[in-house]
Parts: sequence; structure tokens; C-alpha cells
Amino acid sequence: MTLSEKSSQGDDEASAVRAGYDLSSAKVLVVGAGIMGAGIAQVAAQAGHFVYLYDTKAGAAEAAHSNLKDTLAILEKRGKLGNTPAHDIASKIRPIDALAVAGDAGLAVEAVVEKLEVKRSLFQNLENIVSEDCILATNTSSISVTAIGNGMKKPDRLVGMHFFNPVPVMKLVEVVSGLQTNPAVASAIYKLSHSWGKTPVFAKSTPGFIVNRIARPFYAEALALLQEQFSEPAVVDACMRAAGFRMGPCELMDLIGHDTNFAVTQSVFEANFFDKRYTPSVVQRELVDGGLLGKKSGQGFFDYKSSASTKTHPSVSVASESSPPPTLKRIVVNGTGKITTSWIQRLKDKGVPCSENPQADWTGLQIDELQIRVTDGRTATEMGSKSQSVIVVDLPLFTKPGQALAFAAATTSKPAAIVTAKAWLSVLDYQPVEVKDTPGLLVARTIAMLINEAADAVNQGVCSINDADAAMKLGVNYPAGPFEWLREYGVSSVVDVLENLDRIYRGDRYRISPWLRLSLTNTTVWSKGPPP
Ligand code: NAD
Repeated sequence: MTLSEKSSQGDDEASAVRAGYDLSSAKVLVVGAGIMGAGIAQVAAQAGHFVYLYDTKAGAAEAAHSNLKDTLAILEKRGKLGNTPAHDIASKIRPIDALAVAGDAGLAVEAVVEKLEVKRSLFQNLENIVSEDCILATNTSSISVTAIGNGMKKPDRLVGMHFFNPVPVMKLVEVVSGLQTNPAVASAIYKLSHSWGKTPVFAKSTPGFIVNRIARPFYAEALALLQEQFSEPAVVDACMRAAGFRMGPCELMDLIGHDTNFAVTQSVFEANFFDKRYTPSVVQRELVDGGLLGKKSGQGFFDYKSSASTKTHPSVSVASESSPPPTLKRIVVNGTGKITTSWIQRLKDKGVPCSENPQADWTGLQIDELQIRVTDGRTATEMGSKSQSVIVVDLPLFTKPGQALAFAAATTSKPAAIVTAKAWLSVLDYQPVEVKDTPGLLVARTIAMLINEAADAVNQGVCSINDADAAMKLGVNYPAGPFEWLREYGVSSVVDVLENLDRIYRGDRYRISPWLRLSLTNTTVWSKGPPP
């Protein structure tokens, strides 16, 4: 957060207090005692609040309370509760069997079933129970806060308080404002989330809010590439993990469940009036239709039946391909920037003499007639010629030494050129994996599209640059935020990749965010964050 954002945040917090929204000692009503509601009740009680816990299902609130007692006892044994005994925290939670009991709550957080009509009627009912200045919050992950507020007497006191699962562990809270949300209400929830040990970010109520929107390309690009026969799911995962992601997209979709992941994509697609950018995948629909839902059904991209006890899927590894050591040739390292610098260093470390050509209009190695080019979105075949064999490699900027890096050969490339390219990529400390010659390969196009989506979100006022970065790191554990990647990758390189994808695929999917185009020439668009 920049200084100016911080100070305006401070002003908002002050105005929240002036508006009477001091929630520091408010009683909290949690409605819905399922996975999320129980987590929210735990976090609120641990922060010292008295908590009412209500669920329409008979016995559900008591059952959740009883489970929470066990959880808290375990946390106490592990020394995770500080000086407060587990019993004291648990006794702050009171399961109730009628909402009317909670009339003195200062905050009501709803975590009931994800259905607009259920949430709407709940809030309209709550308005008759709680006082005028009680803040009403919804934990919805996909429904418009504005739509939920429609029909309320005071929709200005409704705000999104979007926690992530598991609530006690995940730091992020998206504080979501609908069209009628009072900014002082959003600020009060922001401040409260902070005091609960969370990292809140502000978001405008738009489909997917921040995280579920910006994350779409992480799954969509992998699925699109699988449909194009790029490679196997295990290779996709290995390359993405090599680029710093904790899990590959295929194993992550298997873990989330393809039905859930497909439903989120569909809801973002529909909510955006079927914008092609968010088109769901036929590859994933086939898995859903076949009941191959992932880990929970025993089979998704990977088979979990034979190793039911394995925590991650069993088969993510790329066979190591050994290549003969390359014979020394005339090597020129083309281009400028971090990739070039690191490749020159790696060659030097291995005692390989090379010359530099910073004037070149492409990045990579020229080895006699062989060019090993870092992808700019074009295929190797498009870049090749009769006199030059071209091998295109995926974005190596974030790839860890010794790990998988995809490469593809032009249709005109001779088999010997592929052998030589693999050998040199091994010298550069990668585990080269040959894939189909596909525009933008995998890591480059996924990261470019994540950046593009984040840029659009900022352009549309959904969130700030710094909040987008924080949300993606804390909400889905990305190794960096989209704008942090952009700073490393460079605006013009990202735009090149997207331009080429847009040209090759045609249609709306790869259209470039106006924010990115503008930032090519006008750095003032970066005024809310550090320059690239
Ligand atoms: P869940 O099915 O585990 O729990 C929902 C609970 O709400 C159930 O116990 C149900 O009996 C109760 N309920 C249903 N209607 C009710 C009503 N009118 N009044 C009171 N209780 C009612 O669901 P969950 O996973 O905890 O999700 C709850 C909400 O949180 C949803 O809106 C969901 O989209 C959102 N959310 C879920 C996750 C997640 O990963 N599960 C993450 C973020 C947000």
C-alpha cells in the first residue's frame, strides 16, 4: 500500500469510528455453522469477541461448537493460543437456536448456503432483529453484494467479508463493497479484519471479486493447452511448479474438485455476459460429466485410488532426459535483461566462452545456425526459416535451477538441432522437456494472462495494484503478485506475448488490457505502485 493509500485508509478508519462503527468489542453473530462459519466463529472468539453461532439445521451449531472445543484444545497443546486458555475461548462461543437471541450483536456475518434468495431473505430478516447500527456482512464467494442488498431497508450497512478456507489459517479477507455499501462500513470491516490477524484488501463487488477473477487464467491456460495436446498434465504441473507455484494447475484442480472449479469458472463467465476471456473448458466439463472430480472421487487428471494415503497426487514428475554434453561452438547470447544476464553468468560458471549481442531483437542463444529463443508468443515454426533452426523455450525468468522448462521445435527443425538445444538447456541448468509447438507455451502465457487480468481489474477500479498482489499471494499462495511479475518480466515483453496470442487465436480471449497498453508509454498508470 502506498503512503497516500495508507493515509486515505487511515481517514476511512477514522470516519468509521466517527460513524459509530467501532467493532473492537462488538458481539458477533455468525449465521451458518458449516466449514466457513465455524472458522469465522473461531477467529472472532480468539480475537476476544463474544460470538453467537446459528444454523438452521438442528444441532449443527452445537456440533460445530463441540468440534471447535477439540480444535482449540489441540491448538493450546501446541502452544498456539498465547496466554488465553482454550476453555476461555470456547466459552465465548454460544450456539443458539433462534436468531432473535442475538439482537445485541454489533456485527452479523453470514456463511450460509451460496444462494442469492437464501442470503437476501436472511439479511431482510436480520434487519428486524439487530439494531440499526449493526453491520451486516456476507461471506459470499461469488454473489454480487449489491444484489444481496436489494430489498434491504438499509443496504448501505451490507458489506462482503470474504474469508478463505481454512479461515483460521488463510490470512486474506476481501472486503467487498456493493453499489450501496457505505465506505465507513467497509472501513470498519477492514479495521476489524486487521485486528483479527488478517490481511484485508478492498474490492469492488464485481464477478469473482479479486482472487477468483484474477486466478481464472491459471486454470484456463493449462486446460486450453491440454486441449491443444501441448503435453501431459504431469508435465504441465512440473513446469508450473518449477516456475515457483506451490502446486501445478492440474493437481490443484484435482484437489479443489473439478465440479467446484468448473462452477466458479462458469459463474464468472455468465456474470460477465459470456465474455470469451472466461470461457469454461470442454476438457474440464468432460471430467465433471464423467464423475472424475479429482481427489475426492479418486480420479481426476491423476489416479488417487492406488495411493489413497498420498497427500499430493502420485505422479507429478518429469522423466529426466539425459543429453550428450554439447561440443563447444560459437555461442552468442542475444538480448538484454535478467534472462540474458543469468544465462551469461551460468555459461561463465561452466567455463563456456560466449559473446554478447545486446542489440539483438530477440532474447536467447545463437549457436551456429541454431537459435534458442525465449518465447514472445510466437511458435517456433513461425520464427524458423530455411537457414535457421529455431527452438523456442518457455519463460525461464522464474524457473528454479535443475527444474523443468518446456521447449518446442519448429516443424522445420532437424532432429540434431533438438538434441543440441536440449544439451545447451541442460548446461543452462534446466531440465528441458519437449512439448508441442504452441503459441506462448505454458508459463509465459499463464503469467502474461494473470497479469492481464489483474491489469483489467485495476483498470476497472476493482482493486489497487498492491491489493491485487497481496490478494493473489495470500488467497491462492502465488509466489509473487501479478504486478510484481510484471515488474520483473517487463511491460513490453508481456504485451508482445499477448499481442501474438491475440493475433494467432483471434477473438476476445487474449485481448490486452487498456491499462497494460497505456503503461507501455505512460508510467503514470503506475502511480499507485512502484514503477516497472
Ligand atoms: P457449508 O455447506 O459447509 O455450510 C453452510 C451452512 O449453512 C450449513 O450448515 C447449513 O445448514 C447452513 N444454512 C443454510 N441455510 C441457512 C440459513 N438460511 N440460515 C442459517 N444457516 C443456514 O458451506 P461453507 O463451505 O461453509 O460455505 C458457506 C458460505 O461461504 C457460502 O456462501 C460459500 O460460497 C462461502 N465460502 C466458502 C468457501 C469454501 O471454501 N468452502 C470459501 C469462501 C467462501
